[in-house]
Amino acid sequence: MTATVTKPKDRPVVAVVEGMPASDGAGVRLTRMLGQPKLQMLDPFLMLDHFDSDKTDDYMAGFPDHPHRGFETVTYMLNGRLRHGDNKGHSGVIDSGGVQWMTAGRGIVHSEMPEQEEGLMRGFQLWVNLPGKLKMSEPTYQEFGGAEIPVERRIGATVKVIAGTTSLGTAGVVTKQAVDARYFDVRLEPGATFEETVPAGHNAFLAVFDGSVHIPGQVETVGAPRIVVLGEGERINVAGGPKGAGFLLLAGKPIGEPVAWGGPFVMNTREEVMQAFEDFQSGHF
Ligand code: MN
Repeated sequence: MTATVTKPKDRPVVAVVEGMPASDGAGVRLTRMLGQPKLQMLDPFLMLDHFDSDKTDDYMAGFPDHPHRGFETVTYMLNGRLRHGDNKGHSGVIDSGGVQWMTAGRGIVHSEMPEQEEGLMRGFQLWVNLPGKLKMSEPTYQEFGGAEIPVERRIGATVKVIAGTTSLGTAGVVTKQAVDARYFDVRLEPGATFEETVPAGHNAFLAVFDGSVHIPGQVETVGAPRIVVLGEGERINVAGGPKGAGFLLLAGKPIGEPVAWGGPFVMNTREEVMQAFEDFQSGHF
């Protein structure tokens, strides 16, 4: 008689993509991890930028007034602050460790100005697409300070849970969202392992920003700044490299609609993008 042990099938690594140096806003230097020629989008995620600098000149020009329509911008600061203000009278500061999940919906015009803390300005901005039926919804914010984000402690690992619920049951602070996203900031000690599950059918990837990861049985070493795109499977299985690792685990339910992307506007059709430019230029945001 043979005992049958069914091991969960790990999500396979389907691509490893290096972040691309880029400049945006009024000249902020950043690493574009997703939304670049080598990795255009992973439905429902459109773009992921990583800021990481100890030089004020890299970011002081910031992102002066600019519009958005049709999707969400999610800003998560590791070090430093982002001063924010929009044309609806909403303003504030995202502190170190804090997150702002902004649903631009039908449109806002805002400025985002980075500031250092103890010489560092590090963080991320993720663009999450909205389904067509929500693209023209009222703009809303979900904002949380660093101290409000739940931290799950595992053996050799800590997980800051920004959105979604982990397999151990820790729920993220961001609860209102359209794509059932998981947004976890995972730190691994050297050699420590991290196992997680996300719903079947969700697109999932890792954004490695510190140290390196090892994907057992698949990829020996992936160093920062790189994206690891994961295919279908039952489990995500990651180990920290020799100096440990910091990575975001992002997963979301694909929207599966046509994407018409024109600069700061992401709609379903080209006509809707042209309408967004027209509405913005005629002051209807
Ligand atoms: Mn913006």
